[in-house]
Amino acid sequence: MSYDPENIFAKILRGEIPCHKVYEDDYSLAFMDIMPQAVGHTLVIPKEPAITLFELSDAASTHLIHAVQRVGAAVKLAMGADGIVVMQLNGVAAGQTVDHVHFHVIPGSVHDLGSHAAAENQTGDLALLASKITQCVV
Ligand code: 5GP
Repeated sequence: MSYDPENIFAKILRGEIPCHKVYEDDYSLAFMDIMPQAVGHTLVIPKEPAITLFELSDAASTHLIHAVQRVGAAVKLAMGADGIVVMQLNGVAAGQTVDHVHFHVIPGSVHDLGSHAAAENQTGDLALLASKITQCVV
């Protein structure tokens, strides 16, 4: 399977689809998940096109994990969470639904992980959350 540049995260990276941005550097972008599994659920993606982690270059992987560390710490602080779940799915068989590598950063416990929010009143105010988390990135 080859990388499809029309996938939703590629469109977000090109600015063709809006997102609630949390963090960006030359290699990675972080933004609020639109259907969060917990309030504060954030996604961190590389700018390099790759479907799964296994296809990502060493350099992009290194930069991505640093972004996950910074964003994860910011989500923890901003949400006042005791724990942070960092999750990453590879392939449809694993449950991956968007064909561009992404890390989920989710406040709370893996034992309390809910299903995706189905309605806007379950997501929290994504713009407000993004700004709160952004302020905690160091
Ligand atoms: P996966 O199931 O592939 O590991 O995760 C894909 C994630 O992307 C899901 O948590 C889903 O809610 C999120 N998502 C899907 N479409 C969009 C979108 O258009 N914008 C944002 N911000 N998140 C999306």
